[in-house]
Amino acid sequence: MVKRVLLAAPRGYCAGVERAVETVELALRRYGAPVYVRKQIVHNSHVVRTLVERGAIFVEHEDEVPEGATVVFSAHGVSPAVRAGAARRSLRTIDATCPLVTKVHAEARRYAAAGYTVVLVGHAGHEEVEGTMGEAPAATVLVQSVAEVERLSVPDPERVAYVTQTTLSIDETAEIIAALRQRFPRLHGPAKEDICYATTNRQLAVKALLPHVDLLLVVGSPNSSNSQRLVELARATGVEGRLIEGAHELDERSLTGVETVGLTSGASAPETLVDGVCAWFRERGVAEIREVGRDDEDVVFKLPAELRRSAA
Ligand code: SF4
Repeated sequence: MVKRVLLAAPRGYCAGVERAVETVELALRRYGAPVYVRKQIVHNSHVVRTLVERGAIFVEHEDEVPEGATVVFSAHGVSPAVRAGAARRSLRTIDATCPLVTKVHAEARRYAAAGYTVVLVGHAGHEEVEGTMGEAPAATVLVQSVAEVERLSVPDPERVAYVTQTTLSIDETAEIIAALRQRFPRLHGPAKEDICYATTNRQLAVKALLPHVDLLLVVGSPNSSNSQRLVELARATGVEGRLIEGAHELDERSLTGVETVGLTSGASAPETLVDGVCAWFRERGVAEIREVGRDDEDVVFKLPAELRRSAA
């Protein structure tokens, strides 16, 4: 029988997601529906559904957007080829790419221009990886594991640099970078970590929580990379981790033998969903629901330049 729920702090929305969601809302208010959005603006089905109700139309490809219409690029970023495709169709583009992803694109471009092979540490198929690879496709290779580092072949081992996806496991990535450094002692890398502050903070908060819980619930969607990493972190520590979209996926029978539940949420999951989970436990007599850790994040990103310009 569940006796308490411990909420990880910080959790949930990061500054990049806040900005991306606000961008679509503002574009809808300013230009009216429909506003097209290329790919899910952030990886959360609840957020996407809510924006669809307000008039956003989500498409997979810029070719699906009618000529001259407004399209928002998602928080995960796009490759130069996508920008070119949008320009060919005379689309009004609003770029909601998280500034921390933009930073990685700039690093990849800089290393490639200087003649380095760019090793991108990330997950194949993720939109952020597609966008970053697209900055310098001929010079970039994707690496997903230490085993892949061992098999890596590059034109000049003296000129290798790495960048990473922003939402990876901090521990696994450190192992991959160590393996890269071992193989390529002159390896170059970013001055400051590419794994973003929000991903790092949410993983550290969960690490602190895990010794005290029997089960970790992560509120997030299956395609949310940073949410999946939180589930994996629990499992790697021997604690059961479950990804849930919201309270509707909870089931009392699956909580047999659990006394303390840890609860967190990925960077794209709104707090209302966490509130729903807390309410679900409260309705079942769990009186002790408290936060563990400290949320002292104060990162705020400015809205995309296109919206600031049109406001002016
Ligand atoms: Fe930006 Fe990190 Fe949030 Fe992704 S998870 S949108 S990189 S702050």
